[in-house]
Amino acid sequence: MPELPEVETIKRELDKIIVGKKITDIIVNNAKVIREPKKEKFIKELKNVTIKKIIRKGKLLIFELSSGKALTIHLKMTGQLIYPRQGGASPGRATRVSFKLSNGKLLDFNDTRLFGELRVVDHWQNLKFIKELGPEPFDLIIDEFKEILKNRRTKVKVLIMDQKVISGIGNLYANEALFRAKIDPGRPANTLSDKERELLFKEIKLVLRQAIKYGGSSVDDYVRVSGKKGNYTKFHQVYDRKGEDCFKCKGKIQRISLAGRGTYFCSKCQK
Ligand SMILES: [Zn+2]
Repeated sequence: MPELPEVETIKRELDKIIVGKKITDIIVNNAKVIREPKKEKFIKELKNVTIKKIIRKGKLLIFELSSGKALTIHLKMTGQLIYPRQGGASPGRATRVSFKLSNGKLLDFNDTRLFGELRVVDHWQNLKFIKELGPEPFDLIIDEFKEILKNRRTKVKVLIMDQKVISGIGNLYANEALFRAKIDPGRPANTLSDKERELLFKEIKLVLRQAIKYGGSSVDDYVRVSGKKGNYTKFHQVYDRKGEDCFKCKGKIQRISLAGRGTYFCSKCQK
């Protein structure tokens, strides 16, 4: 599933490509991804409006429109935004909704599993899951991060993935940040020393920044707007490496399940 670095990568690419362009037509091949309003109204709301600005909040993309409304896109498991498709070229098998732009090219929303969510809303700030989002790591200072961990007995990995507590860290980057900080993912958050909390905060921000720099990680269906893969995958230390050698100590990477999510770590390096 795309996480903060992947969605931020898409946001930055779209900034250069579609801001200032008008949507001249909307082609719906499968209306299941349109969550609100109904298909006909969704099309009507978007036709002949200009995309003024793109914002990312957590994993949500928000297109602010000249009409004052917003188109919000949540990629969920397998959503992709692909540009450009030339007018006249056939859509892909997984293309659910296409936006024809004023330059005649199309922006496709592809989604194999149909979990993606497209909405046109008056005030995106009022969406329930937006209101519930905790602050992003980049918006926190170290003391605030320490406070979050201090009194909670929740396992540290589960806690840093809780979007209501701190937003933007998903399973992949939680695994990677904990390895880099040498912390066992199953430890209760309140058992981390002051030094460990500082190191974890630093590594979370570092891993997210590096992942953005390399265009995110292409695991599962994630690709960049151009259709190219994100290059951060080659820097993964533990994620999806069960049974392989730890790059640091040559021990074996283990996989356990924490709160239902695949958790990869090195028991020699992480204490
Ligand atoms: Zn190791």
